[in-house]
Amino acid sequence: MFETDTITAISTPIGEGAISIVRLSGPDAIEITSKIYKGKDLHEVDSHTIHYGKIIDPETNDVAEEVMVTIMRGPKTFTREDVVEINCHGGLVSVKRVLEIVLSQGARLAEPGEFTKRAFLNGRIDLSQAEAVMDLIRAKTDKAMNIALKQMDGRLSSLIKRYRQSLLETVAHVEVNIDYPEYDDVEEMSHEMMKEKTKEVHAEIEELLRVAKQGKILREGIATAIIGRPNVGKSSLLNALVQENKAIVTDIPGTTRDIIEEYVNVRGIPLRLIDTAGIRETEDIVERIGVERSRQALKEADLILFVLNYNEELSEEDLRLFEVIKGLEYIVIINKTDLTQKLDIEKVKELVEDKRIVSTSLLKEEGIDELESAIADSFFAGEIDSGDLTYVSNARHIQLLRQAMQALEDAMASLEMGMPLDIVQIDVTRTWEFLGEIIGDTASDSLIDQLFSQFCLGK
Ligand code: GDP
Ligand code: ZN
Repeated sequence: MFETDTITAISTPIGEGAISIVRLSGPDAIEITSKIYKGKDLHEVDSHTIHYGKIIDPETNDVAEEVMVTIMRGPKTFTREDVVEINCHGGLVSVKRVLEIVLSQGARLAEPGEFTKRAFLNGRIDLSQAEAVMDLIRAKTDKAMNIALKQMDGRLSSLIKRYRQSLLETVAHVEVNIDYPEYDDVEEMSHEMMKEKTKEVHAEIEELLRVAKQGKILREGIATAIIGRPNVGKSSLLNALVQENKAIVTDIPGTTRDIIEEYVNVRGIPLRLIDTAGIRETEDIVERIGVERSRQALKEADLILFVLNYNEELSEEDLRLFEVIKGLEYIVIINKTDLTQKLDIEKVKELVEDKRIVSTSLLKEEGIDELESAIADSFFAGEIDSGDLTYVSNARHIQLLRQAMQALEDAMASLEMGMPLDIVQIDVTRTWEFLGEIIGDTASDSLIDQLFSQFCLGK
């Protein structure tokens, strides 16, 4: 055990749900709770049992709150320490009061992420699992949640461990050859064998990084811009998407930049609707700021929904917008198909090249399904199923995987140049270290502190 004091925090999102939990972890968790709890003798109860009782304010002897108390003795707990969870069913005021009472009895307010940090330090979870807990707290969609859960399961960890083992064996093999050249029965590690090993691990990391891109989209949402001339139906489209798909994000304290209304969930894919420097409500802004600047403004979008009016001829402004989005990822929506046709569809088809065109009547709620399919198709082949894929969705992991891959490429280049193996293995060892940082094996203390300080309070 690394820590000796007892920490506490409210471990449910403030103001959400009917139940709020004050969690304690540490050697005095049960003792502290006993002092303020009226009910069974908590020292006597079995581990992992839950008990009804009352929290008493020791200063006034008043009943502060009716509670259910869960007693969990270490090491079979999340932190491997004794853990108590006080379930309060009252609102924010009462849960805060319970927390204050717990603090007055000698528990210390947990730092952000400190529960998870203890779990890590006490060997309950590895670093990538700890980070998954953090991602879980921030997960915006069910899919993202699944990825985080899988990572917590240790899937990524076990892959990383396998790569490291393979590299370690290679390095060890070279060492034996160098230290004991007289051992004839140890097969000499040849350049060919080394090449094979590095290539193998390189390919695996490459694949992880490839799916990481999808993971990022799932986590952060597809930055989507709706553009088009005034009055074509942009706001109607936004409303249709929001109505059909409930907003995803729950407001979690500690996450800052997310605004609930900005996200809609289309077939499990989060769209983050962005307003790109006024391009959304054009008023022919393109003419004002120019094609190139409009293009720059739209570049932050992963997907552009470009709305045209079926009931009007193509205008100069439409043509300028086509010019602006050329080469970017977009879908053309021909709206107001309930009205008479004035739009030259053949001309539109020429302009869009290989991109999708969807017809809608937002007024009559027609074509929205097709639009959603088109959106899903443009990023994944149909409805996505994160099923068997192990996504790497954490920025730090991606960075380390890239560094590991670079080090491997250095090793491979040295091999090509016919460098001695004991030189090549320096890069192989670096790869092994980068991979180790992902699961916290070679991570320095300061790195660990920095990571855990990002956690929400109470987790
Ligand atoms: P925006 O200026 O591009 O945001 O366009 P709005 O969404 O505000 O729509 C402009 C007008 O067109 C509103 O009066 C809408 O009710 C109407 N509108 C939107 N979609 C349709 C449609 O499919 N058919 C018809 N007939 N009217 C529509
Ligand atoms: Zn509008």
